[in-house]
Amino acid sequence: MNKEIYERLENLAFKETIPFCYSCYKYAPTGRCKTCFSDDLMRHLEGVGVEFGTGWVIKALLEECLEQPDFEEIFEQSIDDCYGEEVRVGWLTLNPAQIIKNEDPISWEMAKSEYIDSLVEDGEIFEFSGNYYWVNEIEALLVESEAS
Ligand SMILES: [Zn+2]
Repeated sequence: MNKEIYERLENLAFKETIPFCYSCYKYAPTGRCKTCFSDDLMRHLEGVGVEFGTGWVIKALLEECLEQPDFEEIFEQSIDDCYGEEVRVGWLTLNPAQIIKNEDPISWEMAKSEYIDSLVEDGEIFEFSGNYYWVNEIEALLVESEAS
């Protein structure tokens, strides 16, 4: 988990939501409810809902603003780069990625998930709540929102 990115996303989540007192069903923009004086507040994200915490806000904002990478395509590309786009078998010209997928789909899936893990470990991909995003796209989104 990229801590710096996570903290900036959390700031974005605070910025994009308004504190909300669920028992009074009122906004509490100062962080304390003016009616019941509670500071145990949910957050309201316009068009999405009201809930405690920021994880769900970050998830919703990322889903709304960014596309998840197509790992099948990316992994195919990396296999092409590694083994070439074409191999000749007898008189056939074939694509190694397609052959591996057809011949051994399980090993294809395993290798693909290891490849995704390596992108996460290298800090190229940010995983959040079961979703995956390019770190540079998140950074662009953060820069844009931090400037506004
Ligand atoms: Zn209240």
